[in-house]
Amino acid sequence: METPLGPLEFARRARRLYPNLEAVVDGKRRFTYAAFFDRCDRWSSALQSLGVQQGDRVAYVAPNTHAQLESFYAVPQIGAVLVPVNYRLTPSDFSYLIQHSGSRVVCVDGEYLDSVDSIRPALAGVAHFVALDGCRSGWLEYEQLIAAATPYYEHPTINENDLLTINYTSGTTSRPKGVMITHRNAYMNVVGTLIHFHMTSADHYLWTLPMFHANGWTFVWTITAVGGRHVCLRRVDACLTFQLINQEAISVLCAAPTVLICLANVTDDIRRKTRPGVRVLTAGAPPAAATIARIEGELGWDVTHIYGMTETSPFISICEPRAHHKDLSAQDRAVIKARQGVELITSGELRVIDIDGHEVPHDGKTVGEIVARGNVVMQGYFHDAQATEEALGDGWMHTGDAAVVHPDGYVEIRDRLKDVIISGGENISSVEVESILLTHPAVQEVAVVGVPHPKWGEAPYAFVVLANGMDVNEAELEEFARSNMAHFKVPAGFAIVPVLPKTATGKIQKYVLRQGRKAIAHQ
Ligand code: AMP
Repeated sequence: METPLGPLEFARRARRLYPNLEAVVDGKRRFTYAAFFDRCDRWSSALQSLGVQQGDRVAYVAPNTHAQLESFYAVPQIGAVLVPVNYRLTPSDFSYLIQHSGSRVVCVDGEYLDSVDSIRPALAGVAHFVALDGCRSGWLEYEQLIAAATPYYEHPTINENDLLTINYTSGTTSRPKGVMITHRNAYMNVVGTLIHFHMTSADHYLWTLPMFHANGWTFVWTITAVGGRHVCLRRVDACLTFQLINQEAISVLCAAPTVLICLANVTDDIRRKTRPGVRVLTAGAPPAAATIARIEGELGWDVTHIYGMTETSPFISICEPRAHHKDLSAQDRAVIKARQGVELITSGELRVIDIDGHEVPHDGKTVGEIVARGNVVMQGYFHDAQATEEALGDGWMHTGDAAVVHPDGYVEIRDRLKDVIISGGENISSVEVESILLTHPAVQEVAVVGVPHPKWGEAPYAFVVLANGMDVNEAELEEFARSNMAHFKVPAGFAIVPVLPKTATGKIQKYVLRQGRKAIAHQ
């Protein structure tokens, strides 16, 4: 027998098994699984009354709220396709994404109504605009529609290869591309996550990761699959995060390394009162071993490093703990944990290949590109056959990430391919230089990019954010670098900056840094 593999299957099971468990906490609002799914069903029926049909797209511009979480069930269960938009983009980006996805309904959180109102004249294809909270003329009201709807809706037949979501990647250089994720893709990622990172209905999950980012790494469904509790968080504010961790007995969270750094830098007072034992999944950028060591040593949390991209639903590898890792010192264990690791049981095949397509030797030195193929790889880019062909044409998903493979088979990313700095014929990994500089006590964050150099062609240049209350000058940083790395890797210059330019998902925008200090001043 075959039934379609999809995340709605987790919802079906959770309805039966966990109706009385608390599903969602969002500020003062709390819903059991029974109440949560009742709201999803009513919203499904309201969407059908608004004319939404199977295959139609419904866009959301919302932070991590219960309404955004509801969309991950209410929209797909009527066979429609969810388009969770990055709410930190500009109105003109919203306009592009809403039009490109051909969304018929656009649902917007109260904070973003003004932005979307400003582009409404351009959105002729949108039949309905829904305000998720608050009210305003010309907008339908979410809560009113839910209250007026019945929980009965038409259940279309949904196949596992049907589209579930379109996730626009926050590209750092060009227009975003719409990654088409199927029901089957998401199912595979959830199952793989749970095999490697077991959770139960006792787990309380804090939404520090945006739900729009690769569907919150599929945690919008993973937590429901085990009957865990979703605790919503609109934006990451270190104080509020720690308050919720204690108040809501948080046991799991996902965060990009930049968020981990922000959490690691709380005051001693907050640190002393923090709940230990929180399990953290980190991905999105390479976490430095120093950051992992701080989170584990100072907060008593446990970090698991995972790697992937929106195009792979998103996980491609996990730094799987092995029995002998326990015998290592905390520092050495953090070095292993900073590696991207090995393929997941369900993610498919991962290879690191050279320019001729051959696998690189497992020597921890030879750099190649990570490619992947398997059940988590996207269907393609929405309305972009050329980009799909470029990404998947030879049957592998090309990640553009440059990595080595260690003798134990663990992959370690050294750079994004275009970020490798070639200086005087030597390849320099900016990630490596960054992780060494991060061991300096005054350095909170750092990004290294290649800049033109009259003698070497290109040379590394470091942009440094100092830790609170710390002071160090550029000459001292250079001296530190000289005594801790090969001299050809020492940055040709250092700029101490207040912040690094980042995408909404926490990735440092290296192309902005390459333009120099001037560009940063205008951020
Ligand atoms: P996105 O699709 O926005 O999630 O971006 C995917 C890209 O983020 C990957 O191709 C990597 O360059 C980077 N990335 C994600 N996770 C990691 C990680 N654990 N270590 C290093 N880079 C990562």
